[in-house]
Amino acid sequence: MIQITLPDGSIKEFPKGINAIDVAKSISEGLARNVISAKFNEKTIETTTALNENGSLTLYTFNEPEGKKAFWHSSAHVLAQAITSFYPNVKLTIGPAIDNGFYYDVDLGDDTISEKDFIDIENKMLEFARGKHEFKMREVSKQDALNLYKSQNNQYKVELIENLNDGEITFCDHSDFTDLCRGGHIPNTSLIKAVKITSAAGAYWRGDEKNNQLTRIYGISFPKQKMLTEYLELLEEAKKRDHRKLGKELELFAFSAKVGQGLPLWLPKGAALRERLENFLKKAQKKAGYEMVVTPHIGQKELYVTSGHYAKYGEDSFQPIKTPKEDEEFLLKPMNCPHHCEIYNNKPYSYKELPKRFAEFGTVYRYEQSGELHGLTRVRGFTQDDAHIFCTPDQLDTEFKAVIDLVLYVFKSLSFENFTAQVSLRSKEKSDKYIGSDENWEKAENAIINAAKEKGLDYVVEYGEAAFYGPKLDFMVKDALGRSWQLGTIQVDYNLPERFDLNYKGADNQLHRPVMIHRAPFGSMERFIAVLLEHTGGKFPLWLTPEQVIILPISEKYQIYAEKVLHLLENSEIRALVDDRNEKTGRKIRDAEMNKIPFMLIVGEQEENEGLVSVRKQGEGDLGTFTINEFISKINNEINSTLEKF
Ligand SMILES: [Zn+2]
Ligand SMILES: [Zn+2]
Repeated sequence: MIQITLPDGSIKEFPKGINAIDVAKSISEGLARNVISAKFNEKTIETTTALNENGSLTLYTFNEPEGKKAFWHSSAHVLAQAITSFYPNVKLTIGPAIDNGFYYDVDLGDDTISEKDFIDIENKMLEFARGKHEFKMREVSKQDALNLYKSQNNQYKVELIENLNDGEITFCDHSDFTDLCRGGHIPNTSLIKAVKITSAAGAYWRGDEKNNQLTRIYGISFPKQKMLTEYLELLEEAKKRDHRKLGKELELFAFSAKVGQGLPLWLPKGAALRERLENFLKKAQKKAGYEMVVTPHIGQKELYVTSGHYAKYGEDSFQPIKTPKEDEEFLLKPMNCPHHCEIYNNKPYSYKELPKRFAEFGTVYRYEQSGELHGLTRVRGFTQDDAHIFCTPDQLDTEFKAVIDLVLYVFKSLSFENFTAQVSLRSKEKSDKYIGSDENWEKAENAIINAAKEKGLDYVVEYGEAAFYGPKLDFMVKDALGRSWQLGTIQVDYNLPERFDLNYKGADNQLHRPVMIHRAPFGSMERFIAVLLEHTGGKFPLWLTPEQVIILPISEKYQIYAEKVLHLLENSEIRALVDDRNEKTGRKIRDAEMNKIPFMLIVGEQEENEGLVSVRKQGEGDLGTFTINEFISKINNEINSTLEKF
């Protein structure tokens, strides 16, 4: 018999050789029907893999990311099978599962695949899927693996295999189709009930522009037709909310090929919006005891060698900047932390002066391949709402809670209600890759879990997801379409204080290492504004939106009165403008609605005579007439109700 530990901590005995599906059956038939993948001792296994030792087992259904991964990975095999049936000379390369679906990179030689072929591929995939073929893993020797792909003249797979060690090479067979694969499949193909090929695009082998160009075929699949229909509807809605489209329409930001790819240009309205967001956070941070600092956009290469960032970003990012002086090299900063460590090092601290909280809206630069760039979410230069807290290990608890309070305040003020948190801890097994003492790790991990609990966060704990330098807490926000985005992050760091030799004098008069916390509630201004755009569809909270009010005189005669209303609003710090175009009122209202301006004030003869405004709310319609002062208090009340006090 072997002992299997389940995620709830319960331990059950099973005969040696049992598999994941049978363990599921022992829990419930319903679960067994839905289980599509499993992990044993943190390693992905097949649902049919015989379990021969004690260990912990996690079962996944399509509802979990791990389940989806197995489902889409398996679907990629079926996609490759379908492509091979249409193009017998195709050379398959790699085909991983991604966040939403899967792709396969193929070398089609002189052939091409275009949108009109998609339906045939989908139908062929479904035909194969209906065959209810099991995915079976088998070990192969390196020589046999090479022989197979050499016989197919597939230099890509040969290259992959050459980089593998004999004894760790496996093939997956299903039906009469074989592929090089590490495993992690659903039980059989018949679970794939709905398939959509979403696009085909060029991609270089290993992402390197010097290599052959391949065709990347993207698809997505589901265990139910209804899920595909819903997904496609969501996709349509997402297109409308695409931040790149909205950013252009609302004149927030632009890109210029001359300036360079991935380098956003903030237009006046977007820059003003950013400034409001920054001021909002600065105000809250000030109350929370942060001090603003400013550091340069570059630093000596040596600085990043010390911090370890050069090893991480150096080769693969922007190359060092040379100066006329020999051997002098600077780097565009990929992170603000090293600079802040040196600010801490500027003077000695006693424990009584800690914590120190240094904040900066710091712009950083990281090279991303042009194919990876995406609107404001993947860029080459971005500004983090960064801060570093230097504290004693005993202060970690309080500091962590205070940072969570700040993050929650930010999310609430921006109406992000649907968020979850992930606590990333050390893996339970191997602990040698982590820097810092066990005692400190324990302290930090407990501090994070306690803080998450006490603040009532909806959180999951992931073992083995911590960085080597410390545990962390990430906030994931769901946008209006249910898509998850990682935004705010709080990370404990034992590494940089070590590397920069940071210390403080303790009560015992000895020098001690402070703990460092990295935190960014927005993450980056670029990414945050992108997510906010997609979350709100461009309808920002009233306190943040570029124009809060538009005044619409019904004819030129009321222009002067409109200007008077404008001045009164501006005196009360309300952002307003007058639509003085020679257009019909109906047209002006439609345009204001489309530009998502929250309030429209219509002014004509009656309004001018009685000192009134007729108020329309965007998306809601007529609210009736108000005196100007009444309207000003109404709008201020609304702002205050979303922007609570911190
Ligand atoms: Zn596979
Ligand atoms: Zn940092």
